[in-house]
Amino acid sequence: MTTIEIDHTSRWFGNVVAVNDVSMTVGPGVTGLLGPNGAGKSTLINMMAGFLAPSTGKVTLDGKAIWRNEAVYKEIGIVPEREGMYDFLTGREFVVANAELHGLGDEVARKALATVEMEHAQDRKISTYSKGMRQRVKMASALVHEPSVLLLDEPFNGMDPRQRMQLMELLRRMGAEGRTVLFSSHILEEVEQLASHIEVIVAGRHAASGDFRRIRRLMTDRPHRYLVRSSD
Ligand code: ADP
Ligand code: MG
Repeated sequence: MTTIEIDHTSRWFGNVVAVNDVSMTVGPGVTGLLGPNGAGKSTLINMMAGFLAPSTGKVTLDGKAIWRNEAVYKEIGIVPEREGMYDFLTGREFVVANAELHGLGDEVARKALATVEMEHAQDRKISTYSKGMRQRVKMASALVHEPSVLLLDEPFNGMDPRQRMQLMELLRRMGAEGRTVLFSSHILEEVEQLASHIEVIVAGRHAASGDFRRIRRLMTDRPHRYLVRSSD
């Protein structure tokens, strides 16, 4: 059981506060991080992934600080919002390259590609892949070291409905297996369909949390509170 704890955490960029005194707990299963553009979702995910240090407060995994903690990085897989993919590689080469970065071999890459059901296309160049296939190969790459936590930043962006359904199925399965899966989105319906638990952030601040019924009710009753854009 792996739990990420965000405890009174803020992150500043110069004098812009991207995440403002946020506290939340992310446990096993699928959590949706919902918020409009500029809300602070990527900043929060990047702190959970150990890419960014919190300015104040704590971000921990099972009680251990995430920032600058190699042992903890081994437990985390991340699919960033924008990630360059090397189009001239095949899917398999891309995943193997990441396995090697972790000091692992071909076998784990093969397993990760099987998990995301990309074996059939693993020897094709990434340049020939659809958006959904690219996203699944990125996921395979994030899974090579068998992390207990999987973080995905806006994974459904630009996908057609069929690709979206396939990825949702995969994430549901990972959550059901007991992994701690968190994905961000600015689309309520996407989060409702997939997440058993929802955290909402608006303009850097934690705004609500609960299951989809609660979140849908809050958003219907007080749309102005939840749909405001940040002032960037
Ligand atoms: P979201 O992912 O929800 O769209 P972000 O976390 O990307 O939100 O951004 C939150 C706020 O922080 C925005 O106002 C954004 O402009 C600002 N921000 C994010 N990253 C940086 C950065 N590296 N430098 C300066 N400002 C940033
Ligand atoms: Mg973002």
